[in-house]
Amino acid sequence: MKKVWLDAGHGGFDSGAVGNNLREKDITLQLVLYIQSYLKQNYQNVEVELTRSTDVFVSLSDRAKRANSWGADIFVSIHVNAGGGTGFETYTYPTTGLNQTSILQKALHTEVIELIRTYGSIVDRGLKKANYAVLRETKMSAVLTENLFIDTVTDADKLKKESFLNELGEAHARGIAKYLDLPSKKGNLYVVQANDTFYSIAKKYNITVKQLQYANPEVEPTVLRIGHPIIIPMV
Ligand SMILES: [Zn+2]
Repeated sequence: MKKVWLDAGHGGFDSGAVGNNLREKDITLQLVLYIQSYLKQNYQNVEVELTRSTDVFVSLSDRAKRANSWGADIFVSIHVNAGGGTGFETYTYPTTGLNQTSILQKALHTEVIELIRTYGSIVDRGLKKANYAVLRETKMSAVLTENLFIDTVTDADKLKKESFLNELGEAHARGIAKYLDLPSKKGNLYVVQANDTFYSIAKKYNITVKQLQYANPEVEPTVLRIGHPIIIPMV
């Protein structure tokens, strides 16, 4: 089971940045909820935990502490930029060389940029590094995304659209899934019958034995269990 910690920036008395009748804390929460639901609906073998699922304040150190003690595999912090620019950027803690964290950053960054390219005017501000508390204090690979500028009208207009936020959340989720190599839930379910073998099922659907997975990841994968659904991937 892979463990994903999603960290919605700000909350409670801390609104984060504000502009164009938007508050950063509301957008970050919405995005995190979209990421969570897309991960749960489309992938197996993943557990998701949130810093907050409501409008409450959580300190930066508590965010990191909770993710550390839960044993998260990755930590993704969601923010909205301000200060008069435009576009999307991602951050990791400043270290040198290629490591797991920079691979996660690249996976997330690439998926989101692919989405926002379809919107034409959104700028790719690049993969960056910064000494942010949640990146520094978390023990696992941690990336922070800055999703457009709340105080720039053209960016804010997009952030006001439910459909855009949903797509933005989905792109984050796809990046996470790619990095963690999460198996897709897509496929047909086949319930194991008496007399089946892994080989006979695979042969029937013209796939390899290795492609078969139980729908419920808790089931011991090497033993054939009558009555348990197996996922037949699309080929
Ligand atoms: Zn922020």
